[in-house]
Amino acid sequence: AHPIHGRIDGPIVMIGYGSIGKGSLPLIQRHIAHDPALLSVIEPNPAAAPLLAAQGITHHQIALTPDNYRAVLGGLFPDGRGFCVNLSVDTSSLDLMKFCRALGVLYIDTVVEPWAGFYFDTNDNAQRTNYALRQQVRDEKAANPGGTTAVSCCGANPGMVSWFVKEGLMILSRDLDRDDPVPADRAGWARLMQDLGVKGVHIAERDTQARAKPRPRDVFVNTWSVEGFIAEGFQPAELGWGTHETWFPDGAHRHATGCQAGIWIARPGAITRVHSWCPTPGPQFGFLVTHNEAISISDYYTLGDPAAPDFRPTCHYAYHPCDDAVLSLHEMFGAGRQQLVHEILDVDEIVTGIDELGVLIYGHAKNALWFGSRLSNAEAKMLAPDQNATGLQVTSAVLAGMVWALENPQAGIVETDEMDHARCLQIQRPYLGPVEAHYTDWTPLQDRWEHFPEDIDDTDPWQFRNVLAS
Ligand code: NAD
Repeated sequence: AHPIHGRIDGPIVMIGYGSIGKGSLPLIQRHIAHDPALLSVIEPNPAAAPLLAAQGITHHQIALTPDNYRAVLGGLFPDGRGFCVNLSVDTSSLDLMKFCRALGVLYIDTVVEPWAGFYFDTNDNAQRTNYALRQQVRDEKAANPGGTTAVSCCGANPGMVSWFVKEGLMILSRDLDRDDPVPADRAGWARLMQDLGVKGVHIAERDTQARAKPRPRDVFVNTWSVEGFIAEGFQPAELGWGTHETWFPDGAHRHATGCQAGIWIARPGAITRVHSWCPTPGPQFGFLVTHNEAISISDYYTLGDPAAPDFRPTCHYAYHPCDDAVLSLHEMFGAGRQQLVHEILDVDEIVTGIDELGVLIYGHAKNALWFGSRLSNAEAKMLAPDQNATGLQVTSAVLAGMVWALENPQAGIVETDEMDHARCLQIQRPYLGPVEAHYTDWTPLQDRWEHFPEDIDDTDPWQFRNVLAS
C-alpha cells in the first residue's frame, strides 16, 4: 500500500495534461486523499479527452487565456477550498497564482510561465529573461506577504535541486568534519555555504535516455516538453553571478532593479556551452539554458547588500539533454526555424538510459561534490505509471510540494529554497532511484584541448571564465 501524505478537501484542478500532467496525476491519486468526483483537468488538446474519459476524470477542453481564466477557475473553485496544480505552458503563473490566493485556493507550478507570446514577441532581451519573470513573483510576494500558500517553481529543476543544495551542504559539512547544525533560516544557510568555502553550484545534468529508432530529420525530440525546451532555449543565457568572479563575460548585462543576483548574456542559452561534470560521463559540455533556480539559489544564499554583497554563489544550469535533443537543437539553430513535428520520448519506447540530475557544489576544500538523482527509465517504469525518468523526477517534486503546501497552508508565495528540504525529500525520495554523493577532483581547467589558446584564468580554476566554453 502507498502512504497517504495528506488530504485535499474541495476541488483539485490540474491545468495541462502534457508529459508532466500525465505523470503527476497518478502520484496525486496514490498519495493524497481526495474526492475523485472533484478532480478535473483543464487541457485544450482534444487528444487528452479519451485518456481522461477512460479514467473517469472530468475534462474541461479549453485553453486558459488572460480573458477567461477568472471565469473558468472561479467556476471550478466555488467555495474557497481546493488545490490548483498548474502544469501547462502558455499560461501566466503570476496571474493564476494571484487569483488562486484571492480565492483561498492552494496553488503550485513548476516554472514561472508567461501567457502565450512572451518568449518570442519582443526583441527586448532583458524583458525575456527568467530574472524578469521571477522578479514579478518576488515583487508580488513582497507586496502581499503571507496568506494562502502558492508554491512557485516546484519541479525537478527548478525545484528538487534547491533541496539537493541544502542536503549537499550538510554532507559537505559532515565530510569536512565540521558537523554544523542544520541552519534555521535563510541567512544561516547562506553563512553555512560561505563558511564551507563554496564558490558556486552547477545544476549538472546528463540525460542518456534513448530509443532504438534514429532521430528522423526535421523532428524535435526531447524527454519532456519540446515547446517548453525551445522557449527556454531561445531565452538569453542566464546565471546567478557570484562574488568570487573576477571577470565579466562579453555581451553580459546586469539588472538595475530587483534582487540583482543574476546576469544575462546576449545569446541563446541552448547554444551556449559550459564545461561541467556528472558522474556518468565525467567532464562534459552542458548548455547554459536559463532556469529560475540559477537566480533563486544565488539570491537565497546572498549575504549583505544585494547590490554589493559580501557573499553570493555563482549558479547556473549545465544541461546535457538526451542525445536526440542535442541533435534537434543543432538542426533547429542551424536551420533558423523550429521543426514542426515534436516528439517526447515515451517511457515504453525508451530502450536505455538514465536522467542524472544533481547539483555540483564547487570551490571548497574538497573541490567539488555532485549530489543528485541517477534515475533510470527502467526503474521509473516500475515505480509509477505514465512517465519516463525525467518526468518522474519532476512529478515526485510536485507531489512533495503539494504535501508541504497542505502542511503549511498559510505560508504565502514560496520558492523551493524557502521550504523544508528534509520533509520534501522524504516524500520525494522513493521516486528518485539512486540518490548519490560523488566527490571529484575535476575542475574546468582539466581535460581541455590544448592546441589552441583560450581566454582562461589558470590561477583560479572555478572562475566562470573557465567554465564558459569558447
Ligand atoms: P507539454 O508540452 O507536454 O504539456 C503542456 C500542456 O499544456 C499541453 O498538453 C498543452 O496542450 C497544455 N496547454 C497549452 N496551452 C494551454 C493553455 N492556454 N491552457 C491550458 N493548458 C494549455 O509540457 P510538459 O513537459 O508537461 O511541461 C509542462 C510545464 O512544466 C512546462 O511549463 C514546463 O516548462 C514545466 N516543466 C518543469 C520542469 C521542472 O523541473 N521544473 C520539468 C519539466 C517541465
